[in-house]
Amino acid sequence: MVQRPRQASGHEERRDGPVRTCVGCRRRAVAGELLRVVAVNGHLVVDVRRRLPGRGAWLHPVPECLVKAERRRAFPRALRVPGVLGVDALGEVRQYLEHHLERLTEHSQDAGAARIQSESRKQVDPS
Ligand SMILES: [Zn+2]
Repeated sequence: MVQRPRQASGHEERRDGPVRTCVGCRRRAVAGELLRVVAVNGHLVVDVRRRLPGRGAWLHPVPECLVKAERRRAFPRALRVPGVLGVDALGEVRQYLEHHLERLTEHSQDAGAARIQSESRKQVDPS
């Protein structure tokens, strides 16, 4: 069941935070559910803390969206990277995603549908 807040005031803000568009599937999602990817020296890195400067591309933490984004070359376009990204430019993002998914499946083997939602609820404790 999906509850829609009734405040369409032009601002794309929800209670959970700003809404971004996934560069893979082009669906909108709360930024907290998406990975922020930025380009550093022609390489794409996952901006885990969302603090790196510059343009960010937003992506669902699922392989499907990464593949889609790669196919349509969405990253260079979204990030305005001049020229073409290297072949291994996405390697780091892919690795991050793989670890990410491993963790998720470890914690929720019984509820596949809840894997992304549970991630957004998780608190990151940088102690
Ligand atoms: Zn997506």
